[in-house]
Amino acid sequence: MPYISPGFLDLQLNGFAGLDLNGEALSQESLVVMIRALWATGTALFLPTLVSAPFERLQGALKALADFVEAAPHLDLQSRLAAASIAGIHLEGPYISPEDGPRGAHVAAFVRPPDWDEFCRLQEAASGKIRLITLAPEWPGAIDFIERAVASGVTVAIGHTGADGHQIRAAVAAGARLSTHLGNGAHAQLPRHPNYLWEQLAADDLYATFIPDGFHLPPSVLKSFVRAKGVHRSILITDAVAAAGEAPGIRTLMGREVELTPQGKVQLLGTPYLAGSALRLDLAVANAMRMADLPLADAIRMVTETPAAVAALTSRTGRLCSGMEANLTLFRLGEDAAVEVLATVVKGQVVYTAGDFA
Ligand SMILES: [Zn+2]
Repeated sequence: MPYISPGFLDLQLNGFAGLDLNGEALSQESLVVMIRALWATGTALFLPTLVSAPFERLQGALKALADFVEAAPHLDLQSRLAAASIAGIHLEGPYISPEDGPRGAHVAAFVRPPDWDEFCRLQEAASGKIRLITLAPEWPGAIDFIERAVASGVTVAIGHTGADGHQIRAAVAAGARLSTHLGNGAHAQLPRHPNYLWEQLAADDLYATFIPDGFHLPPSVLKSFVRAKGVHRSILITDAVAAAGEAPGIRTLMGREVELTPQGKVQLLGTPYLAGSALRLDLAVANAMRMADLPLADAIRMVTETPAAVAALTSRTGRLCSGMEANLTLFRLGEDAAVEVLATVVKGQVVYTAGDFA
């Protein structure tokens, strides 16, 4: 039986199908190729995600993304629709924890304290398209930064952090509304309590994103996190990197060797550290249903309505009702609850159909 849902929305995607959004110069052609590959996974909308990097590199990538979106009205239909799939930009860093563990795979030399003037220059390069920023609230000045960012209309997420409970509560009071990939970008070992995982789980004003690829969180942790946070505050993301949608093997990502294993795990070569995922949202929905014992409607909400709410996109997308942009995903459930995407619609235009679906 086919289903129709609001178009899947991914709040965190660093690359896909061979393109690293943080790597080489972004061209119109390479972005269109990547986004066409994303449409085949049911993703109608996404936030291209840039990680910690020197100012000039971030500025260049933000400008390239903004230029692509702004040039779209003058481009061909495929490019216009590809640009329409970019619902804003997620800046993950550079104002995150410098510590090993919370920093995750971000490069230590590029991590720095929050700097509002720098952020304003980055937002200018992005033509105002930075919609979400992930930072660590324990930095001096972070609370003031959060207040300014929220006042400017940017959603603030806590992530790659070693903050204590007081710092997390202060961030929430300042307007932070999301935990980025909760349970990852964290110390390998923590005091059993208190710690920043419990603090964020207990904060009812925080939504949380999760990476349900089976490597970032064991099934029991995903299930427990979703139950603690509540279905309505839980969001599935891919955190995909360029290797996603590609064959297993070793490749260079941000100047470092990264391995995609045949099982679908992406790790810094020779280390146990994950370096993003090879996940896709169609798999994320199926994995979350299986790992967290969720009904289909709940898992779909986590890639549609809830991320739209966090990214302040509810007037455009995330629900099936009149007056919304027609961003849609059609799919059926195959064996073992596999989500088989049949068609993806962006702004009322069919941008992908499976071979056997007409
Ligand atoms: Zn991260």
